[in-house]
Amino acid sequence: MFLVSMFLIGCLAGWIASTLACILLAPVTFQGIVHCRHCHHVFPRWSHWFRPWPLKCTSCSRRDSLWPWLSAGATGAVFAGFTWMLIRANCQSIEEVQPSGSLTTGRLPFHLWLIFLLVLVTLTDLLDYVISDIVVIVGVVSAVVLAVFSGELQMIHVWVNWDEAIPGLRGPYLPTWMDQHQHLHGLVWSLAGMATGAGLLWILRLSAQLVLGTPAVGFGDVTMMAMVGAFVGWQPTLCIIALAPLAGMVVGPVIRWITGRSFVAFGPYLAVSTLIILCSWSTIWRDWSLRTVFSHWPSVVGLVAGAVVVLTLLLLVVRGFRSLPTSAMRR
Ligand SMILES: [Zn+2]
Repeated sequence: MFLVSMFLIGCLAGWIASTLACILLAPVTFQGIVHCRHCHHVFPRWSHWFRPWPLKCTSCSRRDSLWPWLSAGATGAVFAGFTWMLIRANCQSIEEVQPSGSLTTGRLPFHLWLIFLLVLVTLTDLLDYVISDIVVIVGVVSAVVLAVFSGELQMIHVWVNWDEAIPGLRGPYLPTWMDQHQHLHGLVWSLAGMATGAGLLWILRLSAQLVLGTPAVGFGDVTMMAMVGAFVGWQPTLCIIALAPLAGMVVGPVIRWITGRSFVAFGPYLAVSTLIILCSWSTIWRDWSLRTVFSHWPSVVGLVAGAVVVLTLLLLVVRGFRSLPTSAMRR
């Protein structure tokens, strides 16, 4: 029952996201919610939110696109799937982080709110290569405020030192101030994630500019990762950025096929990568021993430098791909 209701809430969220995306993009694109795609007839305001099936234009009576329904269905599936992963499959439970409250009232709504914002950002990015500043600002502010207010929303604390752990005898070292000042820790944790996301994407943006000559990583991607970082903290943010090109290789051709566009912005890959990390955090952190890497400053710096080099090389590959005619790639 709980999962079914999460699915329905997700459907509603996906519908709201598609409507908001259209309203944000209304001056530039015709995507069938604010205007008719065929005759550019402007729909009445109430029908942006409530639309009978099937979607038909009242002026030219031609059928409109199904993508708002696809967005609703997909978001519903993601909401239900993520809820199951977090509550039933314990995909984020690790021994260092033991929130005193229930995940259902704490981290679950916090992360679902992030997923909703990511759906919205992905839609605007797919429709018009735009990541709205308003959405990102709302996201960053809400993430920081909630992190400070709750003090218990982190997937991982801002610093955990596994170097000093002795198996079976002593756990990892946790700085004591984190426990004594929970709300301050929430603030530091959220801001550290934000700075990591924005900073690393900014470096990538500069290197893309150098390598490709065009800004392949948009400023919207920088602000988007600032938002994601503020929700998840710096360690998952690094994982998300590292995984994004791989996610792109899998998701990219699908998106290209659906939208029929040759160039897909970086934003949707970051969104997919975020979802994957949210659903596999305990595996990555504990089973793949990332916790020891993140306990050691030189390793972290080396990892970041290595990731920047690899991503820059990947941009060179992308440069090769982009010179291919898209018709050849779709066959
Ligand atoms: Zn029409």
